[in-house]
Amino acid sequence: MDLGIKGKRALVCASSKGLGFGCAEALAEAGVDLVMNARGVEALEAAAADLRERFGVAIETVAADVTTSEGQAAVLKAAEGVDILVTNAGGPPPGMWSDWERDDFIKALDANMLAPIALMKALVPGMMEKGWGRVVNITSQSVKAPIAVLGLSNSARAGLTGYVAGTARQVAGSGVTINNLLPGIHATDRAVSLDTGVSQQQGISMEEAKANRCATIPAGRYGTAQEFGAACAFLCSQHAGFIVGQNLLLDGGAVNATL
Ligand code: NAD
Repeated sequence: MDLGIKGKRALVCASSKGLGFGCAEALAEAGVDLVMNARGVEALEAAAADLRERFGVAIETVAADVTTSEGQAAVLKAAEGVDILVTNAGGPPPGMWSDWERDDFIKALDANMLAPIALMKALVPGMMEKGWGRVVNITSQSVKAPIAVLGLSNSARAGLTGYVAGTARQVAGSGVTINNLLPGIHATDRAVSLDTGVSQQQGISMEEAKANRCATIPAGRYGTAQEFGAACAFLCSQHAGFIVGQNLLLDGGAVNATL
């Protein structure tokens, strides 16, 4: 399918690896020029070189922590006037509800709620002026079904989801859509770190931890960054202009709900 976005320009945050990279890859394949961001310069440059070579698109890189105001300023300088924004950043660490203090919540809110909101506030007005834009926020299945040990993520992402629900309806009339993609377990470094935690806590091998987790997913496996990226590219496509303020779960059926 021709996504109809060849020649558009996108900012994809936290995109040297994992789900962010999957989104950058799918957009590059659709002919979209990119601003890619991640913290580590080496992996970021390698990822950008790979996509330039395979898809021939123009790619700028910004090595910065997108959860800080300095990082956001650096990213926004390169991304002025983009047509597409994909927000993303690492998720908060697991823990116990009784251990988290105010500072832990502030950190999680900065990373997984306030950073995407700041980027939308900066970039959506330009999209509205042009009469076309797409925003996809990478959130989590924890928005639909809480993951108890990820209470910081449950809290911060719920805040972002509420903001998007209202804001998406305020900007849709200007041709800008805002939607959220909710990953369940995908085979990325994040999944390895979650499985490592379970394996250490329960005294089982990584293989057992992974097999136990797979058994909770009706699809019987982890998702891939490529599948995730394809869904993102579709939401950014010309065909998705009537999809507004939605929360699309990509979880292999793990959340057991009718709607
Ligand atoms: P990941 O840890 O594999 O992603 C790594 C990428 O994010 C790298 O490019 C890294 O440089 C970049 N990054 C991380 N923090 C950053 C920051 N502050 N500033 C700039 N770049 C940053 O993560 P992932 O698995 O791709 O997940 C992406 C998001 O989706 C995370 O928020 C994660 O919590 C969430 N999520 C992932 C899963 C999963 O199974 N992978 C499930 C649910 C939710």
